Amino acid sequence: MSGIRRILFATGNQGKMREVRSILADTGAEIFSMSEAGISADVEENGGTFEENALIKARAAAAAWNDGQGAVLADDSGLEVDALGGEPGIYSARYLGEQTSYGIKNRDIIARLDGVPEEKRTARFVCAIAAVLPDGREFTVRDTIEGRIGYEQKGEGGFGYDPIFYVPEFGKTTAEMDAEEKNRVSHRGKALSHMKEVLSRNEGFDRQ
Ligand code: IMP
Repeated sequence: MSGIRRILFATGNQGKMREVRSILADTGAEIFSMSEAGISADVEENGGTFEENALIKARAAAAAWNDGQGAVLADDSGLEVDALGGEPGIYSARYLGEQTSYGIKNRDIIARLDGVPEEKRTARFVCAIAAVLPDGREFTVRDTIEGRIGYEQKGEGGFGYDPIFYVPEFGKTTAEMDAEEKNRVSHRGKALSHMKEVLSRNEGFDRQ
């Protein structure tokens, strides 16, 4: 392979896909979601870490995508709340049930932190990204953004736990940031930029 021309990002999450497209735009590679690639790889995320789960998703999608010249990327991310012993962590999407709305999940986390003082409300979003290249090489990266769990849900942007994730340096939640601002500072933004560097160093992008 002489430079990456196509990237499949293995997620069904539209919110993530928007972030991915914007961050990978400057690689010049054609970006595909699972539905655009015409595949559905429903895998059991039974890894014990964010990295393992990202690799499980990327390998399954790579096996289903008979492209032969594209890189397959997948992420696994989640929210770690220190006062809850790191919960929901790798179970963030499944917390209180996959179908439960984030309005309810977010209310529940705020309720569980009732009485927890400001300095103990520390939390982070974690994102691991795995890449599988056509020749079988695999890479992983991990990045985080540190913040605090708020006292109420704030903001309309982002998705998932964003309305309760307050970032002190910015004086707002990640749901109150615009997309460009969030991409610059978020766990996924940092991990994607990081992965872009790893791929660029190891394989390069074919920017024709
Ligand atoms: P995944 O799709 O298995 O990586 O699960 C990610 C889980 O963590 C989902 O529940 C998301 O809502 C949550 N999550 C990950 N990144 C973010 C983010 O940037 N904002 C809000 N929630 C996030």
